[in-house]
Amino acid sequence: MKDKSSILAVGTVAIDAVETPLGKRDKCFGGSASYFSYAASFFTSVKIVAVVGDDFPAEYRAVLEQKGVDLSGIEVRKGEKTFFWRGKYKGAMNEAETLATELNALLAFKPLLALQDTQPVLFLANVDPEIQYKVIEQKKGSKFTVMDTMNFWIQNKLETLKKVLAKIDALVVNEGEARQLTGESNLIRAGEALRCMGPSHVIVKKGEHGVLLFGDEGFFALPAYPVKDVYDPTGAGDSFAGGMVGYIAKTGTYDFATLRQALIWGTVVASFTVEDFSLERLIRLKPDELQQRYNDFVKIIRL
Ligand code: AMP
Repeated sequence: MKDKSSILAVGTVAIDAVETPLGKRDKCFGGSASYFSYAASFFTSVKIVAVVGDDFPAEYRAVLEQKGVDLSGIEVRKGEKTFFWRGKYKGAMNEAETLATELNALLAFKPLLALQDTQPVLFLANVDPEIQYKVIEQKKGSKFTVMDTMNFWIQNKLETLKKVLAKIDALVVNEGEARQLTGESNLIRAGEALRCMGPSHVIVKKGEHGVLLFGDEGFFALPAYPVKDVYDPTGAGDSFAGGMVGYIAKTGTYDFATLRQALIWGTVVASFTVEDFSLERLIRLKPDELQQRYNDFVKIIRL
């Protein structure tokens, strides 16, 4: 019998194809829930709720299994294909250009939580807001719910997305998504407007320029960790959320001070993700390397 997980995460477990100025992968492991859960597992235990097709490679599954992620909530749909995303990054690689999104098995996915899914922390990774909503409606015992999303869903499922927003404690979005959701070009106004839509905490990611946190007790800003060689930014946002939410779940406290600290951990984990393609750098990451970079980063940001 597995130890009980402290985070339940719903999102995509995917096959990606990625091209950046430093290289190309025609087929690699991706997905919002995959990056999130791998990153969060440096801090605490995670169970994934997701769907894949019967083309999902056994070696991708093994990556998460070896990290101790509970995969019993992943449904395998026979005769269907796994969610597929193709993206390309140019220049400073601050934003992905989506070349293809094939929803495949995700289209008919109806998440069904188990009776024992009473984890205190719920993470709604980037996925169809209708799936996020179905999970939030079924989930029992949540003390803290965090959500991520992206332009694709803001364009296609805005009304459902707003229903999810009204039920969460914290939202993690990038600056483009914050502007798109609120119509505000100023990020401070956008952060405030997002808090009015439901979440008491809003985290706005600005890529290589760091992150902003808006909450009841005020405002906090953090730079990014300076990475010289960015190979592939895919999963930076999901693994940022993994480090952040993993730390929060580990402490079991959900206040502004904990979130500030969690932002530092999220930033440090994401700084590793971008140093290689797919989950490759995270897979090689040792806990003492993570701690060392955390210590270095704290020195950088201290007055
Ligand atoms: P990010 O952290 O934002 O770079 O997330 C990258 C991951 O998001 C990729 O591995 C994709 O498989 C996944 N992804 C891309 N588009 C979507 C989408 N519309 N819904 C859910 N996941 C997606």
